[in-house]
Amino acid sequence: KVKAGLAQMTKGGIIMDVTTAAEARIAEEAGACAVMALERVPADIRRDGGVARMSDPQMIKEIMSAVTIPVFAKARVGHFAEAQILEALGVDMVDESEVLTPSDEDNHINKHAFTVPFVCGARDLGEALRRIAEGAAMIRTKGLAGTGDVAEAVRHQRMINKQIKVAQALDADELYSYAKELRVPIDLLQKTAELGRLPVVNFAAGGIATPADVSLMMQLGVDGVFVGSGIFKSSNPAPRAVAMAQAVTHYKDAKILGELSTNLGDAMIGEPRNEAIKKYVNNYTKGKTD
Ligand code: PLP
Repeated sequence: KVKAGLAQMTKGGIIMDVTTAAEARIAEEAGACAVMALERVPADIRRDGGVARMSDPQMIKEIMSAVTIPVFAKARVGHFAEAQILEALGVDMVDESEVLTPSDEDNHINKHAFTVPFVCGARDLGEALRRIAEGAAMIRTKGLAGTGDVAEAVRHQRMINKQIKVAQALDADELYSYAKELRVPIDLLQKTAELGRLPVVNFAAGGIATPADVSLMMQLGVDGVFVGSGIFKSSNPAPRAVAMAQAVTHYKDAKILGELSTNLGDAMIGEPRNEAIKKYVNNYTKGKTD
């Protein structure tokens, strides 16, 4: 219950990736509800290649002392030692992130073993509920981080929404076989069907680059958004950060969104989804995507 506290507080908010104390201050001033401290935004991780790991604690500490809002940081999937270090540093939430290179092909972190809350990525309801079973306090779409193309985030959120509707349409007997099909604990699936939504806070992430992208994801029912490369890889980050933060609040008001979208300069150039997916799939052997 305590662990769900911070995740609940971020509802209706925007969480921005930042790599320096100066960027963190821009994010806070723009109205971010939290920042994600990392050495390289996903677009640069994609460009650089190699093994992407937890960031240098020195950089995370600098960002923690630069802002008053919560600071999140990323650990590799399955890398409980990185998560232990981040918890000891005092970060507010750990993102068990597929944006970094996964460290364990079979096991995610047992998040029940930690006091710090975790956010995890998901592409469908099965993945989301498995991560929640492991102790995640918050779920985000995986999307395709670092591409500036929102299509995968849309696909993942629509898939989650659709599978929740299916669960709601099934009767109590049928739900058992759906739980088997999704490879999830029945109690979590029952709770999801009852609530008509994920039982934890659900953000969108992966490719969100404009105020309109923010509105699109919010209208698909998410509680808030993560923006990685979309802000600090654009031509003019500070006004874009403000506009995207405002877009989370005004996501239903197309008129205001029109104003927020005006004169923002160039959005991140990015990499369209098809090319990105080809590269992405090449990076994973043995049929494991992420
Ligand atoms: N995400 C990443 C990065 C993975 O390496 C794996 C493991 O195969 C998964 C997700 C899928 O895990 P699960 O089937 O438990 O949802």
